[in-house]
Amino acid sequence: GAKRQKSHYCQFYRADMPVVSGDDLQLETNLRYALERHEFDVYYQPQRVLGRQRSSSVPALSAEALIRWTHPQQGFISPGRFIPLAEETGLIVPIGEWILRQTCTQVKTWQQQGLPPIKVSVNLSSVQLNQPHLPQTIAQILQETGLSPQLLELELTETALMQDATAALAMLSELKTQGLRIAVDDFGTGYSSLSYLKQFPIDTLKIDRCFVNGLTTDAKNQVILTAMIEMAHALDLYVVAEGVETEAELALLQDYQCDSVQGYLLGQPMASKDFYTWCQAMTLEQAS
Ligand code: C2E
Ligand code: MG
Ligand code: MG
Ligand code: MG
Repeated sequence: GAKRQKSHYCQFYRADMPVVSGDDLQLETNLRYALERHEFDVYYQPQRVLGRQRSSSVPALSAEALIRWTHPQQGFISPGRFIPLAEETGLIVPIGEWILRQTCTQVKTWQQQGLPPIKVSVNLSSVQLNQPHLPQTIAQILQETGLSPQLLELELTETALMQDATAALAMLSELKTQGLRIAVDDFGTGYSSLSYLKQFPIDTLKIDRCFVNGLTTDAKNQVILTAMIEMAHALDLYVVAEGVETEAELALLQDYQCDSVQGYLLGQPMASKDFYTWCQAMTLEQAS
């Protein structure tokens, strides 16, 4: 099939990118049954706050929720492969709702089990953003689970926001009234500017990992990252760097005053019980 997995190079959005290839047909059939057959799972990848916290409303513990699909015969199928297909077929709407409900339920449960509040980010597809009942769905999930809206962050790519900027602005404004947070994902790979993005009610900027990979030897990415973080802070945005894999990258990001980091250095995306253990260890470490 068409390669959809992002390499570590900055890959910029093109309108003519292939969406569905022939051998995805079998995948589509399997995808239709995956939800009712309970083949999905949510994994959690930890984030670490660096230095002094810029915003007291952001808890010390945070994570990104990432969907995992294990097919009984085909095994693990990466989201890079099936998410575009789920978007194309509209299956992303029920799947996306499932992820939101599952994640909010889990985070609330962790709190009830005695962990400190954990902020969680959930990826939202542009298809979901175009659903008029999205705010109602989210309000209902928050009410059902009793999760504090400040602990929920919705991640949208800049490409998703730019598809229909007027509609996106209206939708985000409505969502913001619920008290949740909005993040721009994969920042730097679309063709929008930060000053343009600032018209949206966003809280967080997630800088794409293509700027972070090999940072220590790439003078251009050092300049770009410094400028991005400085500008984001001037616009009062919270900055998360994605794809941090080495101590050297972490040290540079700390120098640049980046607010938070996510990447294999801190931890891979992990099953909920492993993330619970990770949080317990972190809480003990912070208390000592
Ligand atoms: P994303 O939202 O930008 O998520 C970050 C991706 O980078 C994840 O891949 C994560 O496992 C990977 N990653 C994290 N740290 C590192 C690192 O240090 N190095 C490298 N090389 N990679 C790292 P994953 O889980 O395969 O997800 C890929 C994409 O699929 C996500 O990119 C997101 O766009 C989409 N996706 C995943 N879960 C969901 C979901 O629940 N809903 C929607 N709509 N999309 C999702
Ligand atoms: Mg994301
Ligand atoms: Mg990302
Ligand atoms: Mg991505």
